[in-house]
Amino acid sequence: MPFPRERDKQMIIAVDGPAASGKGTIAKALAAHYGLPHMDTGLLYRAVALNLLETDGDPDSEFSAARACDIAQIDFSDPQLKSEAVGGIASRISTYPMVRDALFERQRAFAAQEGGAVLDGRDIGTVIAPEARVKLFVTAAPQVRARRRFEELKMMGMNVHYEDVLADIHARDERDAGRSAAPLRQAEDAIVIDTSEMSPDEAVAAALDAVVGIVGLD
Ligand code: C5P
Repeated sequence: MPFPRERDKQMIIAVDGPAASGKGTIAKALAAHYGLPHMDTGLLYRAVALNLLETDGDPDSEFSAARACDIAQIDFSDPQLKSEAVGGIASRISTYPMVRDALFERQRAFAAQEGGAVLDGRDIGTVIAPEARVKLFVTAAPQVRARRRFEELKMMGMNVHYEDVLADIHARDERDAGRSAAPLRQAEDAIVIDTSEMSPDEAVAAALDAVVGIVGLD
């Protein structure tokens, strides 16, 4: 459904939050509901990580990681992007300012397209689109997020231990929040949605309520 009264305005919806908080589910649902294009910006960092792996680059070198940002066409549907190995490297190389700078324009252009867009990530409301009309900060307790990720990985047939997944979630949280370049933090004007006790449908309903509260439309 388009935003009738907001048609001439740039409708950017920024959805930020830590890993497995439910921000992807919420962003997709909002994009579908309002007929806006959606970008999962984590996939950009994952695409760089995959390129680095495939070209034998060095994740410990900022220059090597920056070179791996030179990707003409990203295949967002490549299932390899979703792997834990790629996610781990994405988390490490996303701390490099050169990598963040190299990916900035792509995200900025997507956010600024006519009619608006929904983007989810870590720094959309703070760095990529600080002017976003709607900013949501989606979060959940680390144990809940680890449980979700654990169930997801098991469904994919992977042999994982809950404790390892929880340790990984903690490590990613620390890297995301602790890095000096665009750390994960809630924008001052963001609405917080804690999905710890919510089903996916309830989380989407809470996000829609939040958008309606800001934009004033159903
Ligand atoms: O969201 P996802 O887990 O797919 O993101 C992969 C990694 O990319 C994250 O661990 C995070 O460190 C990084 N990322 C980021 N900024 C974004 C999106 C993702 O630093 N806007």
